[in-house]
Amino acid sequence: MNRTIVITGAASGIGQATAALLTERGDRVIGVDIHDADVVADLSTVAGRADMIAQVTARSGGSVDAIVANAGLATPTATTVGVNFFGAVETLSGLRPLLAGSAAPRAVATASMASLFPPDQALLDALLAGDETAAMARGAELEQAGGEQANLIYGTTKRALVRWIRRHAAGPEWAGAGIPLNAIAPGVVETPMTAAFTGSDEARHAILDMVPMPLNGIFQPRDVAYLLAWLVSEENAHLCGQIVFIDGGSDAVIRGESTW
Ligand code: NAD
Repeated sequence: MNRTIVITGAASGIGQATAALLTERGDRVIGVDIHDADVVADLSTVAGRADMIAQVTARSGGSVDAIVANAGLATPTATTVGVNFFGAVETLSGLRPLLAGSAAPRAVATASMASLFPPDQALLDALLAGDETAAMARGAELEQAGGEQANLIYGTTKRALVRWIRRHAAGPEWAGAGIPLNAIAPGVVETPMTAAFTGSDEARHAILDMVPMPLNGIFQPRDVAYLLAWLVSEENAHLCGQIVFIDGGSDAVIRGESTW
């Protein structure tokens, strides 16, 4: 295969499993993370993202075949705003020029089924406007408020991310340049991020009340890696702006027939 694929959040969980799968299949992976990666960079900051783009450009020789914008945080903090939305969007936009030389360029982001949860409207508006200063300020307010308010941060960042994908995928920079741009929306996957929700039977029951997964329940990062690997493969040439829910059925249960 010999494709070069950039994966953010490659040091753990879904990103690590995807890096392992693609490497086994013969691809060259450039892993990005805040620790233990080929490219160490902090995607929560403007400077960290610029450094990531410079390092990936140098390491790849200026050309990659696919981008997996997967790094994320689930803490109820303003930093989650920086990583989950601006980190992901800048990974896609900033590395997009490197796809120009590929015969089969692909891009995908990891969103979440939590994008279905009610958002904080002020934060969502700031994110959709691309206003990082306002978004970080609102994130800090929600973080300070704590509790239910702070818990809105994660789902709101993922909702903004899927809306960004829907807004851009069919445009000239992506579809117009022959680049399928899509996202995945996982349900509950057993990774370090969800350890507190999956560590005991009681916790698993509680999270499954919130995220109903009638099809095979909580699953493993490798299960998500198979989907991401297909989305960045040559075989995926016609999927545009799709948010693929790999969620054991939570979307079908929650939204039913209201969307398709
Ligand atoms: P994880 O915590 O195992 O991995 C996330 C990785 O992102 C870590 O290696 C972490 O170091 C990296 N990261 C965090 N902040 C960063 C920063 N500032 N700069 C660079 N890298 C940073 O979690 P995971 O479950 O593998 O999550 C991967 C993605 O999947 C995330 O976007 C997450 O929101 C999403 N997701 C996870 C689940 C789940 O149930 N695990 C469900 C839906 C969506």
